[in-house]
Amino acid sequence: MSIVELARPEIQALHPYEAAEQVEDTVRLNANESPEVSSAGNFRRPLNRYPEVRPRGLQSSLAARFGCGPEQLLVTRGSSEAIDLIIRAFCRAGIDSILTHAPSFSMYRHYADVQGAKVIEVPALARQDFRIDIDALLAACLPETRLVFVCSPNNPTGGMLSEAELERLLEGRRHTSAVVVDEAYIEFANAPSATALLHRNPNLLVLRTLSKALGFAGARCGAVIGEAPIIRMLDTVQAPYALATPVVECVEDALEDKQLEQAAITVRRTIAERERLASRIAGYEFVRKVWPSQANFLLVEVRDANEVMRHCEQNKVLLRHFGGDLASCIRVSIGSASENERLLQALDTLEAERA
Ligand code: PMP
Repeated sequence: MSIVELARPEIQALHPYEAAEQVEDTVRLNANESPEVSSAGNFRRPLNRYPEVRPRGLQSSLAARFGCGPEQLLVTRGSSEAIDLIIRAFCRAGIDSILTHAPSFSMYRHYADVQGAKVIEVPALARQDFRIDIDALLAACLPETRLVFVCSPNNPTGGMLSEAELERLLEGRRHTSAVVVDEAYIEFANAPSATALLHRNPNLLVLRTLSKALGFAGARCGAVIGEAPIIRMLDTVQAPYALATPVVECVEDALEDKQLEQAAITVRRTIAERERLASRIAGYEFVRKVWPSQANFLLVEVRDANEVMRHCEQNKVLLRHFGGDLASCIRVSIGSASENERLLQALDTLEAERA
């Protein structure tokens, strides 16, 4: 059985949008486009023409990069769009549910709310180092749980799920849910991508993004990877021409060897800075705990999160505070060495004021 059969029946029955043909060296009077090319913008392809319905070149190069076949990958507008597409395809409003662990990335809940899908959250506890408990996830699933989202490395805690644990989850939900592994931060981790598990886990979907390690958050480009029939179904749900010509060209540039080498250097620097910051921050008297992180941020528990936030903001350094179970924590993104120095200077003055 393919997990396509778990999707909403009307989505399973949906036919792909039939776009106007695009053939080189022809007079194109089939798409109601303008015949004139604007002089604004500096792009390799003419902007009076629609882009490809799906950017096939990018699909192949991203598939090669992420270790799957092109038919197993859909290029999306950031991984955010992939989360939205998956939830819309699998969850019937008012009936189906998604399940995830908390704290985690808030967009799973957001898009489930948009779709009218229920959200079941299984808490991961600070005193257990936010470990994701697979048995608890499996036990919390309902018959209508179509999707299980796990974020690894997890935002905002920075921890990872082991491959063995992930396989246990995949096995436990083999015929009943798609398991979506959000790998937005995987390049900063000391672990391989879950894509390697695809061949023996047909209910696995992996999310990747160009927004973090590749440094192209502004381009809005990501991917969902999974079994070809699921990818074909998500393709029918995604808007035609989703990836705009300027974005496609920008991402083509981002995937050139020179850019990739530069991005790899930035990732190595970020990891080194993460470790440096973790040990510096742990030394402040007002800091209770810095969690080990496999991502490009640190979760830090402090005595008074509002005070740290306020003080840093006064020093023009913005951090993130979430409230709820994380009310005493702040999340610090790892910046450049000089940006991190600005943060440490702000924290130094806070320590001095409190002394
Ligand atoms: N997943 C996680 C875990 C994230 O933290 C983010 C962004 N903060 C995203 C997905 C979405 O990223 P994007 O849409 O830019 O790919």
